[in-house]
Amino acid sequence: RSSTMARVDLDGNPIKPITICMIGAGGFIGSHLCEKLMHETPHTVLALDIQNDKIKHLLEPDSLPWAGRITFYRLNIKHDSRLEGLIKMADLTINLAAICIPADYNTRPLDTIYSNFIDGLPVVKYCSENNKRLIHFSTSEVYGKTIGAFLPKDSPLRKDPAYFVLKEDESPCIYGSIEKQRWTYACAKQLIDRLIYAEGAENGLEFTIVRPFNWIGPRIDFIPGIDGPSEGVPRVLACFSNNLLRGEPLKLVDGGQSQRTFVYIKDAIEAVLLMIENPARANGHIFNVGNPNNEVTVRQLAEMMVQVYSKVSGEKPPETPIIDVSSKEFYGEGYDDCDRRMSDMTIINKQLGWKPKTSLLDLLESSLTYQYRTYAEAIKKVIAKPVAS
Ligand code: NAD
Ligand code: UDP
Repeated sequence: RSSTMARVDLDGNPIKPITICMIGAGGFIGSHLCEKLMHETPHTVLALDIQNDKIKHLLEPDSLPWAGRITFYRLNIKHDSRLEGLIKMADLTINLAAICIPADYNTRPLDTIYSNFIDGLPVVKYCSENNKRLIHFSTSEVYGKTIGAFLPKDSPLRKDPAYFVLKEDESPCIYGSIEKQRWTYACAKQLIDRLIYAEGAENGLEFTIVRPFNWIGPRIDFIPGIDGPSEGVPRVLACFSNNLLRGEPLKLVDGGQSQRTFVYIKDAIEAVLLMIENPARANGHIFNVGNPNNEVTVRQLAEMMVQVYSKVSGEKPPETPIIDVSSKEFYGEGYDDCDRRMSDMTIINKQLGWKPKTSLLDLLESSLTYQYRTYAEAIKKVIAKPVAS
Protein backbone atom coordinates (compact mmCIF):
# COMPACT_ATOMS: atom_id res chain seq x y z
CA ARG A 1 0.00 0.00 0.00
CA SER A 2 2.76 2.46 0.89
CA SER A 3 4.45 1.80 -2.48
CA THR A 4 1.28 2.78 -4.37
CA MET A 5 0.94 5.95 -2.28
CA ALA A 6 4.40 7.06 -3.35
CA ARG A 7 3.51 7.03 -7.05
CA VAL A 8 3.98 10.39 -8.80
CA ASP A 9 3.05 11.73 -12.23
CA LEU A 10 5.48 13.09 -14.84
CA ASP A 11 5.54 16.46 -13.08
CA GLY A 12 6.36 14.98 -9.68
CA ASN A 13 2.87 15.37 -8.20
CA PRO A 14 1.41 12.46 -6.20
CA ILE A 15 -1.15 10.43 -8.16
CA LYS A 16 -4.59 10.28 -6.52
CA PRO A 17 -6.60 7.06 -6.89
CA ILE A 18 -9.46 7.56 -9.37
CA THR A 19 -12.46 5.59 -10.63
CA ILE A 20 -12.44 4.67 -14.32
CA CYS A 21 -15.50 3.68 -16.34
CA MET A 22 -13.99 1.40 -18.99
CA ILE A 23 -16.31 0.54 -21.87
CA GLY A 24 -15.17 -2.53 -23.84
CA ALA A 25 -13.05 -3.65 -20.86
CA GLY A 26 -13.51 -7.31 -21.84
CA GLY A 27 -11.71 -6.94 -25.17
CA PHE A 28 -8.07 -7.35 -26.16
CA ILE A 29 -6.83 -3.87 -25.15
CA GLY A 30 -9.28 -3.61 -22.24
CA SER A 31 -8.06 -6.86 -20.69
CA HIS A 32 -4.44 -5.70 -20.71
CA LEU A 33 -5.37 -2.27 -19.39
CA CYS A 34 -7.42 -3.78 -16.53
CA GLU A 35 -4.50 -6.07 -15.70
CA LYS A 36 -2.07 -3.14 -15.59
CA LEU A 37 -4.41 -1.03 -13.44
CA MET A 38 -4.97 -3.87 -10.96
CA HIS A 39 -1.33 -4.96 -10.74
CA GLU A 40 0.38 -1.57 -10.62
CA THR A 41 -2.02 1.20 -9.57
CA PRO A 42 -4.55 1.99 -6.83
CA HIS A 43 -7.31 2.96 -9.28
CA THR A 44 -10.81 1.48 -9.37
CA VAL A 45 -12.35 0.10 -12.58
CA LEU A 46 -16.01 -0.17 -13.54
CA ALA A 47 -15.58 -2.70 -16.34
CA LEU A 48 -18.39 -2.58 -18.92
CA ASP A 49 -18.74 -5.11 -21.74
CA ILE A 50 -21.14 -7.63 -23.22
CA GLN A 51 -18.67 -10.41 -22.31
CA ASN A 52 -15.84 -10.98 -19.80
CA ASP A 53 -13.92 -14.10 -20.88
CA LYS A 54 -10.61 -12.20 -21.20
CA ILE A 55 -10.80 -10.62 -17.72
CA LYS A 56 -12.23 -13.56 -15.72
CA HIS A 57 -8.81 -14.05 -14.09
CA LEU A 58 -9.09 -10.52 -12.65
CA LEU A 59 -12.68 -10.91 -11.38
CA GLU A 60 -12.45 -14.22 -9.49
CA PRO A 61 -11.88 -15.42 -6.81
CA ASP A 62 -12.85 -12.84 -4.18
CA SER A 63 -9.50 -13.38 -2.46
CA LEU A 64 -7.57 -11.57 -5.24
CA PRO A 65 -5.54 -8.68 -3.79
CA TRP A 66 -7.47 -6.14 -5.89
CA ALA A 67 -10.96 -7.54 -5.14
CA GLY A 68 -13.30 -4.59 -4.72
CA ARG A 69 -11.31 -2.40 -7.11
CA ILE A 70 -12.77 -3.98 -10.24
CA THR A 71 -16.46 -4.61 -10.87
CA PHE A 72 -17.85 -6.11 -14.05
CA TYR A 73 -21.11 -4.78 -15.54
CA ARG A 74 -22.49 -6.97 -18.31
CA LEU A 75 -24.20 -4.47 -20.57
CA ASN A 76 -24.60 -3.39 -24.17
CA ILE A 77 -24.11 0.37 -24.53
CA LYS A 78 -26.60 0.37 -27.43
CA HIS A 79 -29.49 0.05 -25.00
CA ASP A 80 -28.79 0.16 -21.30
CA SER A 81 -30.04 2.91 -19.03
CA ARG A 82 -27.22 2.23 -16.53
CA LEU A 83 -24.63 3.83 -18.84
CA GLU A 84 -25.05 7.45 -17.75
CA GLY A 85 -25.04 6.53 -14.04
CA LEU A 86 -21.79 4.59 -14.43
CA ILE A 87 -20.14 7.48 -16.29
CA LYS A 88 -21.28 9.81 -13.49
CA MET A 89 -19.82 7.48 -10.83
CA ALA A 90 -16.39 7.66 -12.47
CA ASP A 91 -13.77 10.42 -12.79
CA LEU A 92 -12.69 9.24 -16.24
CA THR A 93 -14.36 7.26 -19.04
CA ILE A 94 -12.34 5.18 -21.51
CA ASN A 95 -14.24 3.99 -24.58
CA LEU A 96 -12.82 0.89 -26.28
CA ALA A 97 -16.09 -0.60 -27.55
CA ALA A 98 -16.08 -1.14 -31.31
CA ILE A 99 -16.24 -3.55 -34.18
CA CYS A 100 -12.63 -3.38 -35.35
CA ILE A 101 -11.82 -6.56 -37.27
CA PRO A 102 -11.29 -5.93 -41.03
CA ALA A 103 -13.26 -9.06 -42.04
CA ASP A 104 -16.35 -7.34 -40.56
CA TYR A 105 -16.02 -4.04 -42.43
CA ASN A 106 -17.29 -5.35 -45.78
CA THR A 107 -19.58 -8.10 -44.43
CA ARG A 108 -21.24 -6.16 -41.55
CA PRO A 109 -20.97 -2.55 -42.72
CA LEU A 110 -24.07 -1.38 -40.84
CA ASP A 111 -22.92 -2.85 -37.52
CA THR A 112 -19.53 -1.25 -38.23
CA ILE A 113 -21.05 2.21 -38.63
CA TYR A 114 -23.34 1.84 -35.63
CA SER A 115 -20.71 0.49 -33.30
CA ASN A 116 -17.97 2.95 -34.25
CA PHE A 117 -20.10 6.07 -34.55
CA ILE A 118 -23.76 6.00 -33.42
CA ASP A 119 -23.25 3.86 -30.29
CA GLY A 120 -20.41 6.10 -29.14
CA LEU A 121 -22.51 9.29 -29.30
CA PRO A 122 -24.21 8.90 -25.88
CA VAL A 123 -20.81 8.24 -24.28
CA VAL A 124 -19.47 11.55 -25.62
CA LYS A 125 -22.67 13.37 -24.66
CA TYR A 126 -22.75 12.03 -21.07
CA CYS A 127 -19.08 12.91 -20.57
CA SER A 128 -19.60 16.41 -21.91
CA GLU A 129 -22.80 17.09 -19.93
CA ASN A 130 -21.35 15.75 -16.67
CA ASN A 131 -17.92 17.36 -17.08
CA LYS A 132 -16.15 14.00 -17.12
CA ARG A 133 -12.86 13.37 -18.83
CA LEU A 134 -12.93 11.03 -21.86
CA ILE A 135 -10.18 8.89 -23.40
CA HIS A 136 -11.52 7.69 -26.71
CA PHE A 137 -10.03 4.95 -28.90
CA SER A 138 -9.71 5.96 -32.53
CA THR A 139 -7.50 4.15 -35.07
CA SER A 140 -4.51 4.61 -37.36
CA GLU A 141 -6.98 3.77 -40.15
CA VAL A 142 -8.35 7.32 -39.86
CA TYR A 143 -5.36 8.49 -41.94
CA GLY A 144 -6.32 6.10 -44.75
CA LYS A 145 -3.87 5.60 -47.59
CA THR A 146 -0.53 7.38 -47.80
CA ILE A 147 0.12 10.17 -50.29
CA GLY A 148 2.97 8.02 -51.58
CA ALA A 149 0.50 5.32 -52.65
CA PHE A 150 -0.61 7.64 -55.46
CA LEU A 151 2.91 8.27 -56.82
CA PRO A 152 4.24 6.24 -59.76
CA LYS A 153 5.62 2.87 -58.53
CA ASP A 154 9.22 3.84 -59.38
CA SER A 155 9.08 7.38 -57.96
CA PRO A 156 11.99 8.10 -55.59
CA LEU A 157 9.60 10.28 -53.56
CA ARG A 158 7.99 7.08 -52.22
CA LYS A 159 11.06 6.79 -49.98
CA ASP A 160 10.64 10.35 -48.66
CA PRO A 161 8.98 10.31 -45.20
CA ALA A 162 6.95 13.39 -46.20
CA TYR A 163 4.94 11.04 -48.44
CA PHE A 164 4.19 8.25 -45.98
CA VAL A 165 4.63 9.22 -42.30
CA LEU A 166 1.26 9.76 -40.60
CA LYS A 167 1.04 12.87 -38.40
CA GLU A 168 -1.89 13.68 -36.13
CA ASP A 169 -2.05 17.38 -36.96
CA GLU A 170 -0.85 17.43 -40.58
CA SER A 171 -1.64 14.31 -42.57
CA PRO A 172 -4.74 14.33 -44.77
CA CYS A 173 -7.22 11.47 -44.45
CA ILE A 174 -7.32 9.68 -47.82
CA TYR A 175 -10.00 7.06 -48.40
CA GLY A 176 -11.14 4.85 -51.27
CA SER A 177 -14.58 4.72 -52.83
CA ILE A 178 -17.77 3.88 -50.93
CA GLU A 179 -17.87 0.29 -52.21
CA LYS A 180 -14.54 -0.30 -50.49
CA GLN A 181 -15.95 -0.65 -47.00
CA ARG A 182 -12.74 -0.58 -44.95
CA TRP A 183 -13.13 3.17 -45.40
CA THR A 184 -16.61 2.99 -43.90
CA TYR A 185 -14.91 1.99 -40.65
CA ALA A 186 -12.29 4.72 -41.07
CA CYS A 187 -14.96 7.29 -41.84
CA ALA A 188 -17.12 6.37 -38.82
CA LYS A 189 -14.05 6.60 -36.59
CA GLN A 190 -13.03 9.91 -38.13
CA LEU A 191 -16.43 11.49 -37.64
CA ILE A 192 -16.56 10.63 -33.93
CA ASP A 193 -13.00 11.99 -33.50
CA ARG A 194 -14.23 15.23 -35.07
CA LEU A 195 -17.31 15.27 -32.83
CA ILE A 196 -15.16 14.82 -29.70
CA TYR A 197 -12.82 17.56 -30.89
CA ALA A 198 -15.82 19.85 -31.45
CA GLU A 199 -17.21 19.07 -27.95
CA GLY A 200 -13.82 20.11 -26.64
CA ALA A 201 -13.78 23.31 -28.67
CA GLU A 202 -17.38 24.41 -28.04
CA ASN A 203 -18.26 22.88 -24.66
CA GLY A 204 -14.91 22.38 -22.97
CA LEU A 205 -14.96 18.55 -22.96
CA GLU A 206 -11.64 17.24 -21.60
CA PHE A 207 -10.63 14.57 -24.07
CA THR A 208 -7.72 12.47 -25.28
CA ILE A 209 -7.88 10.52 -28.54
CA VAL A 210 -5.70 7.41 -28.98
CA ARG A 211 -4.75 6.10 -32.44
CA PRO A 212 -3.41 2.54 -32.13
CA PHE A 213 -1.07 1.34 -34.88
CA ASN A 214 -1.46 -2.49 -34.89
CA TRP A 215 -1.14 -3.32 -31.19
CA ILE A 216 -0.65 -7.06 -30.93
CA GLY A 217 0.01 -9.72 -28.30
CA PRO A 218 -1.65 -12.39 -26.14
CA ARG A 219 -5.49 -12.54 -26.13
CA ILE A 220 -5.95 -10.72 -29.46
CA ASP A 221 -9.28 -11.78 -31.00
CA PHE A 222 -9.85 -15.56 -31.09
CA ILE A 223 -8.71 -18.83 -32.64
CA PRO A 224 -11.39 -20.00 -35.09
CA GLY A 225 -13.11 -23.20 -33.94
CA ILE A 226 -11.58 -23.00 -30.45
CA ASP A 227 -12.76 -19.82 -28.74
CA GLY A 228 -14.45 -18.21 -31.74
CA PRO A 229 -16.57 -19.19 -34.76
CA SER A 230 -14.87 -21.73 -37.03
CA GLU A 231 -15.63 -19.61 -40.11
CA GLY A 232 -14.53 -16.35 -38.39
CA VAL A 233 -11.57 -14.30 -39.67
CA PRO A 234 -9.71 -12.49 -36.87
CA ARG A 235 -6.81 -9.99 -37.23
CA VAL A 236 -3.55 -11.14 -38.78
CA LEU A 237 -1.69 -12.31 -35.64
CA ALA A 238 -4.60 -14.63 -34.77
CA CYS A 239 -5.07 -15.78 -38.41
CA PHE A 240 -1.41 -16.71 -38.79
CA SER A 241 -1.30 -18.29 -35.29
CA ASN A 242 -4.31 -20.43 -36.19
CA ASN A 243 -2.61 -21.61 -39.40
CA LEU A 244 0.62 -22.40 -37.54
CA LEU A 245 -1.16 -24.27 -34.73
CA ARG A 246 -3.01 -26.40 -37.29
CA GLY A 247 0.09 -27.02 -39.42
CA GLU A 248 -1.56 -25.25 -42.38
CA PRO A 249 0.08 -22.73 -44.71
CA LEU A 250 -0.33 -19.05 -43.83
CA LYS A 251 -2.54 -17.21 -46.32
CA LEU A 252 -1.07 -14.04 -47.82
CA VAL A 253 -3.73 -11.67 -49.08
CA ASP A 254 -3.04 -10.01 -52.46
CA GLY A 255 0.70 -10.70 -52.36
CA GLY A 256 1.36 -9.52 -48.79
CA GLN A 257 3.01 -6.29 -49.96
CA SER A 258 1.15 -3.99 -47.54
CA GLN A 259 3.30 -2.66 -44.72
CA ARG A 260 2.51 -2.46 -41.01
CA THR A 261 4.35 -1.37 -37.87
CA PHE A 262 3.51 -3.69 -34.98
CA VAL A 263 3.75 -2.61 -31.35
CA TYR A 264 3.69 -4.96 -28.37
CA ILE A 265 0.49 -4.56 -26.38
CA LYS A 266 2.39 -4.25 -23.09
CA ASP A 267 4.42 -1.28 -24.43
CA ALA A 268 1.26 0.39 -25.73
CA ILE A 269 -0.53 -0.05 -22.40
CA GLU A 270 2.28 1.91 -20.71
CA ALA A 271 1.38 4.81 -23.01
CA VAL A 272 -2.30 4.59 -22.04
CA LEU A 273 -1.40 4.57 -18.34
CA LEU A 274 0.65 7.75 -18.84
CA MET A 275 -2.39 9.39 -20.46
CA ILE A 276 -4.63 8.29 -17.57
CA GLU A 277 -2.27 9.63 -14.91
CA ASN A 278 -1.13 12.84 -16.64
CA PRO A 279 -4.35 14.58 -17.66
CA ALA A 280 -2.74 18.02 -17.92
CA ARG A 281 -0.31 16.67 -20.51
CA ALA A 282 -2.80 14.45 -22.33
CA ASN A 283 -5.99 16.53 -22.53
CA GLY A 284 -6.81 18.05 -25.91
CA HIS A 285 -4.32 15.79 -27.70
CA ILE A 286 -4.56 13.07 -30.30
CA PHE A 287 -1.82 10.48 -29.82
CA ASN A 288 -0.44 8.02 -32.35
CA VAL A 289 0.71 4.93 -30.45
CA GLY A 290 2.90 2.65 -32.55
CA ASN A 291 6.41 1.32 -33.02
CA PRO A 292 8.11 2.81 -36.11
CA ASN A 293 11.08 0.44 -35.61
CA ASN A 294 8.93 -2.63 -36.21
CA GLU A 295 7.94 -2.08 -39.85
CA VAL A 296 7.50 -5.14 -42.11
CA THR A 297 5.49 -6.18 -45.14
CA VAL A 298 2.81 -8.75 -44.33
CA ARG A 299 4.94 -11.27 -46.28
CA GLN A 300 7.91 -10.58 -43.99
CA LEU A 301 5.65 -10.94 -40.96
CA ALA A 302 4.48 -14.35 -42.22
CA GLU A 303 8.07 -15.50 -42.81
CA MET A 304 9.12 -14.38 -39.32
CA MET A 305 6.14 -16.06 -37.67
CA VAL A 306 6.91 -19.37 -39.41
CA GLN A 307 10.46 -19.28 -38.02
CA VAL A 308 9.49 -18.14 -34.53
CA TYR A 309 6.69 -20.71 -34.25
CA SER A 310 9.07 -23.49 -35.22
CA LYS A 311 11.42 -22.42 -32.43
CA VAL A 312 8.63 -22.12 -29.86
CA SER A 313 6.89 -25.42 -30.71
CA GLY A 314 9.94 -27.46 -31.61
CA GLU A 315 8.13 -28.54 -34.81
CA LYS A 316 9.61 -28.30 -38.31
CA PRO A 317 7.82 -25.79 -40.59
CA PRO A 318 5.55 -27.42 -43.21
CA GLU A 319 6.98 -27.84 -46.74
CA THR A 320 4.82 -25.04 -48.10
CA PRO A 321 4.59 -22.62 -45.18
CA ILE A 322 2.92 -19.72 -47.06
CA ILE A 323 0.38 -19.54 -49.92
CA ASP A 324 -1.17 -16.65 -51.83
CA VAL A 325 -4.89 -15.85 -51.85
CA SER A 326 -6.86 -13.01 -53.40
CA SER A 327 -8.63 -10.58 -51.10
CA LYS A 328 -11.90 -11.44 -52.86
CA GLU A 329 -11.46 -15.10 -51.93
CA PHE A 330 -10.33 -14.30 -48.39
CA TYR A 331 -12.49 -11.34 -47.36
CA GLY A 332 -15.14 -11.21 -50.09
CA GLU A 333 -16.25 -8.35 -52.34
CA GLY A 334 -15.42 -4.78 -51.34
CA TYR A 335 -12.15 -5.32 -49.43
CA ASP A 336 -9.40 -2.72 -49.65
CA ASP A 337 -6.16 -2.27 -47.72
CA CYS A 338 -3.95 0.40 -46.16
CA ASP A 339 -0.69 0.43 -48.09
CA ARG A 340 1.48 1.53 -45.20
CA ARG A 341 1.16 2.67 -41.57
CA MET A 342 4.16 4.55 -40.25
CA SER A 343 3.32 6.61 -37.20
CA ASP A 344 4.93 9.91 -36.38
CA MET A 345 5.83 9.87 -32.68
CA THR A 346 6.58 13.55 -32.06
CA ILE A 347 3.50 14.39 -29.99
CA ILE A 348 3.54 11.41 -27.63
CA ASN A 349 7.26 11.81 -27.19
CA LYS A 350 7.00 15.46 -26.32
CA GLN A 351 3.90 15.28 -24.10
CA LEU A 352 4.45 11.97 -22.32
CA GLY A 353 8.06 10.98 -23.04
CA TRP A 354 6.83 7.56 -24.19
CA LYS A 355 8.80 5.27 -26.50
CA PRO A 356 8.08 1.65 -27.43
CA LYS A 357 10.67 -0.91 -26.28
CA THR A 358 9.95 -4.36 -27.67
CA SER A 359 11.35 -5.53 -31.01
CA LEU A 360 9.15 -7.41 -33.46
CA LEU A 361 11.15 -10.60 -32.94
CA ASP A 362 10.73 -10.44 -29.15
CA LEU A 363 7.03 -9.63 -29.30
CA LEU A 364 6.38 -12.46 -31.76
CA GLU A 365 8.25 -14.85 -29.53
CA SER A 366 6.24 -14.00 -26.44
CA SER A 367 2.94 -13.88 -28.37
CA LEU A 368 3.51 -17.23 -30.10
CA THR A 369 4.65 -18.81 -26.84
CA TYR A 370 1.33 -17.70 -25.36
CA GLN A 371 -0.62 -19.02 -28.38
CA TYR A 372 1.17 -22.37 -28.25
CA ARG A 373 0.63 -22.82 -24.49
CA THR A 374 -2.99 -21.72 -24.66
CA TYR A 375 -4.20 -23.50 -27.78
CA ALA A 376 -1.90 -26.31 -28.98
CA GLU A 377 -3.62 -29.03 -26.91
CA ALA A 378 -7.13 -27.91 -27.81
CA ILE A 379 -6.27 -27.79 -31.52
CA LYS A 380 -4.76 -31.30 -31.42
CA LYS A 381 -8.02 -32.60 -29.91
CA VAL A 382 -10.16 -30.88 -32.56
CA ILE A 383 -7.98 -32.21 -35.36
CA ALA A 384 -7.99 -35.74 -33.90
CA LYS A 385 -11.78 -35.88 -33.42
CA PRO A 386 -13.04 -36.95 -36.88
CA VAL A 387 -10.47 -39.78 -36.97
CA ALA A 388 -11.38 -41.01 -33.48
CA SER A 389 -15.15 -41.15 -34.07
P1 NAD B 1 -11.78 -5.85 -29.13
O1 NAD B 1 -12.79 -6.23 -30.13
O2 NAD B 1 -10.93 -6.91 -28.56
O3 NAD B 1 -12.50 -5.09 -27.92
C1 NAD B 1 -13.67 -4.34 -28.03
C2 NAD B 1 -14.59 -4.73 -26.88
O4 NAD B 1 -15.75 -3.90 -26.92
C3 NAD B 1 -15.08 -6.18 -26.98
O5 NAD B 1 -14.82 -6.88 -25.78
C4 NAD B 1 -16.58 -6.04 -27.22
O6 NAD B 1 -17.35 -7.07 -26.62
C5 NAD B 1 -16.88 -4.68 -26.60
N1 NAD B 1 -18.08 -4.07 -27.17
C6 NAD B 1 -18.36 -3.87 -28.48
N2 NAD B 1 -19.57 -3.33 -28.62
C7 NAD B 1 -20.07 -3.16 -27.37
C8 NAD B 1 -21.31 -2.66 -26.88
N3 NAD B 1 -22.27 -2.22 -27.71
N4 NAD B 1 -21.50 -2.63 -25.55
C9 NAD B 1 -20.55 -3.10 -24.70
N5 NAD B 1 -19.37 -3.59 -25.12
C10 NAD B 1 -19.14 -3.63 -26.44
O7 NAD B 1 -10.85 -4.72 -29.80
P2 NAD B 1 -9.51 -4.03 -29.28
O8 NAD B 1 -8.39 -4.45 -30.14
O9 NAD B 1 -9.38 -4.19 -27.82
O10 NAD B 1 -9.80 -2.51 -29.66
C11 NAD B 1 -10.32 -1.55 -28.76
C12 NAD B 1 -10.42 -0.19 -29.46
O11 NAD B 1 -9.16 0.19 -30.02
C13 NAD B 1 -11.42 -0.13 -30.60
O12 NAD B 1 -12.05 1.13 -30.60
C14 NAD B 1 -10.57 -0.25 -31.83
O13 NAD B 1 -11.15 0.38 -32.96
C15 NAD B 1 -9.32 0.49 -31.40
N6 NAD B 1 -8.16 0.03 -32.20
C16 NAD B 1 -7.44 -1.07 -31.85
C17 NAD B 1 -6.35 -1.46 -32.61
C18 NAD B 1 -5.43 -2.58 -32.24
O14 NAD B 1 -4.34 -2.61 -32.74
N7 NAD B 1 -5.81 -3.51 -31.37
C19 NAD B 1 -6.03 -0.75 -33.78
C20 NAD B 1 -6.80 0.34 -34.13
C21 NAD B 1 -7.86 0.72 -33.32
N1 UDP C 1 -3.72 -10.54 -43.81
C1 UDP C 1 -3.21 -11.62 -44.54
N2 UDP C 1 -3.57 -12.90 -44.18
C2 UDP C 1 -4.40 -13.17 -43.13
C3 UDP C 1 -4.91 -12.06 -42.38
C4 UDP C 1 -4.55 -10.77 -42.75
O1 UDP C 1 -2.44 -11.43 -45.50
O2 UDP C 1 -4.66 -14.35 -42.84
C5 UDP C 1 -3.29 -9.15 -44.13
C6 UDP C 1 -4.40 -8.14 -44.41
O3 UDP C 1 -4.81 -8.17 -45.76
C7 UDP C 1 -3.70 -6.84 -44.05
C8 UDP C 1 -2.75 -7.22 -42.90
O4 UDP C 1 -2.62 -8.64 -43.00
O5 UDP C 1 -2.90 -6.40 -45.13
C9 UDP C 1 -3.18 -6.83 -41.51
O6 UDP C 1 -4.48 -7.29 -41.28
P1 UDP C 1 -5.27 -7.13 -39.90
O7 UDP C 1 -6.55 -7.90 -40.04
O8 UDP C 1 -4.42 -7.51 -38.75
O9 UDP C 1 -5.67 -5.60 -39.72
P2 UDP C 1 -5.33 -4.21 -40.47
O10 UDP C 1 -3.91 -3.89 -40.10
O11 UDP C 1 -5.50 -4.42 -41.94
O12 UDP C 1 -6.32 -3.28 -39.92
